[in-house]
Amino acid sequence: MNTVDVLADVKSSMTQRKARRYSEPGRGRRIRCPEEILRDIRGLKLRQRVSLVLGDELLKDELEQTIRNSTVNGVTRADTIRTFQDFLIPQAQPNFVNIGGGIGSAGTGMVVLPVNDIKGNGTTSYNINERQLRSKLAAVYRLVDLLGWSESIYNHISVRLSNESNEYLINPFGLLFNEITASSLVKCDASGNVVDEGSTTLGLNKAGFVLHSTIHEFRPDLNCIIHVHTPDVIAVSSMKCGLLRISQESLVVGNVSYHDYKGILINEEERESIQNDLGTENKIMILRNHGAVICGASIESAFHDLLNFMDACETQVTDIFQVIKFSFY
Ligand SMILES: [Zn+2]
Repeated sequence: MNTVDVLADVKSSMTQRKARRYSEPGRGRRIRCPEEILRDIRGLKLRQRVSLVLGDELLKDELEQTIRNSTVNGVTRADTIRTFQDFLIPQAQPNFVNIGGGIGSAGTGMVVLPVNDIKGNGTTSYNINERQLRSKLAAVYRLVDLLGWSESIYNHISVRLSNESNEYLINPFGLLFNEITASSLVKCDASGNVVDEGSTTLGLNKAGFVLHSTIHEFRPDLNCIIHVHTPDVIAVSSMKCGLLRISQESLVVGNVSYHDYKGILINEEERESIQNDLGTENKIMILRNHGAVICGASIESAFHDLLNFMDACETQVTDIFQVIKFSFY
């Protein structure tokens, strides 16, 4: 037998052994895949949560009321499951519920983390305005993430609690945008000191709040600030021409301010120039070679302008790419 035949023989026997190993009956019972282990962990956390719920009198009353309502009023099964799910989301720290292996029993295996997780004793101190703002702001973090505009645990979206207030809600430092919930948002004062740490002990990125506090302080009309640096926004921010008015979206966003790059934006000394560059009218400021801030009187208006601004940047970058592409052989 020559070398080629020997190698072919070895390969053939290896293939047969491999095929036997994977088709062997009962193999699945011996080898536990990571998904099974993860499901066990989720189940354990869920059981801990149920114990927590049963030990919380206020939450228990609310849960019993929901059950009574669903019995009397004939609430659909899906609605009831959804309500129960909301109750069972841990508040001590952001967590997950596996619908497939858990209470929903829908068999989908979906991992759900509700935006609004404000329930029970721990968060009843929030008034209705704060509850709503927390839910809306958490929803915007999720939307920004869904649209692919988040950047790991960095960047921030902040909102002022009320027109009279010098307190703000912002993301805890360490959670991804898709992990942020209404209760996990941190409440801080204008200096970035934590007033209420929410459902985590992560605190906030004080240095990252400098940009937000500077604008909030200077412009009482801007209650929500969204900071982004996606590749398209950075590309436009690095162009000498700035934002070109070549699309409807670029016109809708109104006048835009520009702030030159002076390093990582964490220095208190930069506050004055940020305020001077933003001015008293504009709601969007492009930070040269860095990104942009999109602001609004409300969370809704800031997010609306964000959508148009992102489209405008994408259009500009695509157009310029096409021009370059067809300018060379
Ligand atoms: Zn930034």
